Amino acid sequence: MAEQAQATDSGPRPLVPFLKLGASPHLEGQKCTCGAIFLDPKRIACSKCGTAGSLKPVQLSNKGKVYVFSVVHQSFPGIKTPYMTAIVDLPEGVSVRSTLVDLDPLEAQKNPGKVFDLPVELVTSVVAKDREGHEVVGFQYKPSR
Ligand SMILES: [Zn+2]
Repeated sequence: MAEQAQATDSGPRPLVPFLKLGASPHLEGQKCTCGAIFLDPKRIACSKCGTAGSLKPVQLSNKGKVYVFSVVHQSFPGIKTPYMTAIVDLPEGVSVRSTLVDLDPLEAQKNPGKVFDLPVELVTSVVAKDREGHEVVGFQYKPSR
């Protein structure tokens, strides 16, 4: 019985609830009838117009632009540094905090103008395993090519 339960319950888990996995991984926002979009899936009301119960799931673009970034030189034990964190603006008007990959952090620090407004696209990778052994998938952004 335990094995059966495990078999139906297998497969990777998203690190954050607004990351949707599957054939084409993407972020899912909550869109209000007024047009405002939020990332928080537990939000019950729109902070722009105040309407409650008006939020519907909407698939967000996998492409965006770097609004601002930071090079992290010190982190928790086991986290490789330096790495880059960023706020990425999506065309839907949503800002997403994430990590930038496929860029040289030290080069970016020397020439930050090359990174601001850089077109980027969403990628996913396994970042951990949970206690039950499921792969946990997170998302990052890499330069669009
Ligand atoms: Zn609204």
